[in-house]
Amino acid sequence: MENIDVKDVFRQLYGVPVEAIYKAPARINLIGEHIDYNGGLVFPSTIGIYTKCYFSKRNDREIHLCSLNKKKAVTRTLDDLTKNGNSWENYPIGAIWSLARNGFKIETGFNMLFTSEIPMGSGLSSSAAILDLTIYALACEYNFDIDKKLVSLIAWETENKYCGLSCGIMDQAIIALGKKNHAMLLDCYKYKYDYFPFDLGDYRLLVLKTNKPRALTDSKYNERVKECDIALDLIKENYRNANNLCEYKVSEMDKIKNALNNDTLYRRVLHVVSENQRVNNFKDALVKGDLELVGKLLNESHFSLKNNYEVTGTHLDTITELSRSQKGCLGARMTGAGFGGCAIAIVHKDNVEEFKKNVMKGYSNTLKIECEIFECEIPDGVCKE
Ligand code: ADP
Ligand code: MG
Repeated sequence: MENIDVKDVFRQLYGVPVEAIYKAPARINLIGEHIDYNGGLVFPSTIGIYTKCYFSKRNDREIHLCSLNKKKAVTRTLDDLTKNGNSWENYPIGAIWSLARNGFKIETGFNMLFTSEIPMGSGLSSSAAILDLTIYALACEYNFDIDKKLVSLIAWETENKYCGLSCGIMDQAIIALGKKNHAMLLDCYKYKYDYFPFDLGDYRLLVLKTNKPRALTDSKYNERVKECDIALDLIKENYRNANNLCEYKVSEMDKIKNALNNDTLYRRVLHVVSENQRVNNFKDALVKGDLELVGKLLNESHFSLKNNYEVTGTHLDTITELSRSQKGCLGARMTGAGFGGCAIAIVHKDNVEEFKKNVMKGYSNTLKIECEIFECEIPDGVCKE
């Protein structure tokens, strides 16, 4: 039904029928937060909400883009791929710009209509979804030899070099390469990955959306990236060399403390180094089916992000505290960049309804805004519909 409607909108807008539809899922990160840009291990999975694009080719050099979410349409040409302030079209236009930089030059224009179930700016990575989606769709339509790994690398380049966020590779990688019912253990330094069946038995993974209005997320994110760069330089200079912060071990933290001689930087590094260890422990616990430990590690990750990395905030702290106090909840933590956005919780299937009711009520009583809670499937990554 939804498809029929959007196809009608497309035809009305562009006067031609849709030729192809592509879709990219959102993602969560189970554990390994803020360490992708520190060369660490992360453990994300896709979730079954999507951004879709409806596509047709043109005979001229015009690019017609429309987002039903933004209720905005723009027309550009292939000869002008300049950035437009902070406007949403920077994502698809930036993708074309990056494709060209990588030798994949588009010579005829197209129409592209986007529609998305992924909330924008909520930490479920609508940005990597629209980037992977645009690049994958154009690669298919223009017969470029680009596998899904390269899709993610070109998307990553776009977000860093064109859009201006110094992000790691995690979001682009999982949205491109995600596998149904699996989580992906990704080494962000080597860009190597393994899939692990994500089977929680009688437990369910819930996504908790704080609905906190977004503020300064990108600048705070870039600030953390910078702090880690500075810390790495100091540790290399005063202690020992390494390629990235995640090459240090928890047992080295005393030496690192001396090398840094700065409490804030020490706490940032403590988070990074301990979080990388937690990812390994989480993987082992998941493989063994030790869900109690899985939940405990989620909690520990959140506390480290709260106290040492300082990227949680009242909304994420409140929603995860409320979650932990509910019957049947094994653990909860923020997911994504933080400063608002979403959290995840693992809850016994028999307690899910009560959990939702209690957390939603407690949250709105405390913070005077509503949150949303939903269960999700784990689908494959970006694909043609
Ligand atoms: P997140 O990735 O957590 O959702 P970001 O700030 O990184 O948040 O990305 C959100 C931005 O991505 C939006 O403000 C918009 O510019 C762009 N975007 C994502 N999805 C869409 C869409 N469906 N239509 C238009 N713009 C989108
Ligand atoms: Mg994003």
